[in-house]
This record gives sequence, structure tokens and C-alpha cells, in this order.
Amino acid sequence: NTTIFTKIINGEIPCEKLHEDEICIAFNDIAPQAPIHYLVIPKKPIINLLSCQDEDRDLLGHLLLVGKGIAIKKGIKDLRTIINNGEEAGQTVFHLHIHFLGGRSMQWPPG
Ligand code: AMP
Repeated sequence: NTTIFTKIINGEIPCEKLHEDEICIAFNDIAPQAPIHYLVIPKKPIINLLSCQDEDRDLLGHLLLVGKGIAIKKGIKDLRTIINNGEEAGQTVFHLHIHFLGGRSMQWPPG
């Protein structure tokens, strides 16, 4: 399961990196849908949430807490987090990623 995110993790293509540790990397979305829009992705090549297992419990928690930490640093107090799982749900890159969006008011339900 190699995607464009594998290349970002390996440093083969550049990104605006916000955070990196042994488990994950966070970077700005290349096509931002809000004034603030970044992604947190695991280094482990997991396709999406539906592919996660019990063994990924800590990893999943870590991704959310890293994303939260970035939001706090940026001073966003209202944010939306999204995981698109599968083509029909809007997933285009088949490597798990959590979207974090902020800096504007949001509508519900999403399209
Ligand atoms: P999704 O549609 O949920 O699979 O989200 C994939 C996201 O990855 C989209 O918001 C894209 O804009 C973003 N994206 C694709 N390629 C890159 C890249 N090279 N750097 C940063 N973000 C990217």
C-alpha cells in the first residue's frame, strides 16, 4: 500500500511539516478547505479507519492528541476533525489521515 503519503513520510516529496515523531507526521493540506487545514497521518501504512485493529488503539489516540496539540499551538478553539473512509465517503488517498480544519465557521451536515 504505497501512496503519495508514503513519499511524504520518506521525505521524497516536500510538505509543510507541523510535527513529526516516531509514530506520525502532521503537515498542511496542499488544497486547504479552511484557513487552517492540516493532516495527521501514521507512519504505519494503514489504509483507513476500517482497516484498524485493536493493536492500533494507542496509535489512533496518539494521532488525535497530536492534532489537538497543534490546534492549541495555533490558538484554534473551534475545529473540525474528519476521517474519510472509502471512496464514497470522499477518501482519495488510501493511507489513514485525520483532517483538522479551523479558522472559519462550519456547516452541518457536511456534503
Ligand atoms: P481525503 O480526500 O480524505 O483522502 O484527503 C486527502 C487529502 O490529502 C486532500 O485534502 C488533499 O488535498 C491532500 N493531499 C494530497 N496530496 C497532498 C500533498 N502532496 N501534500 C499535502 N496534502 C495533500
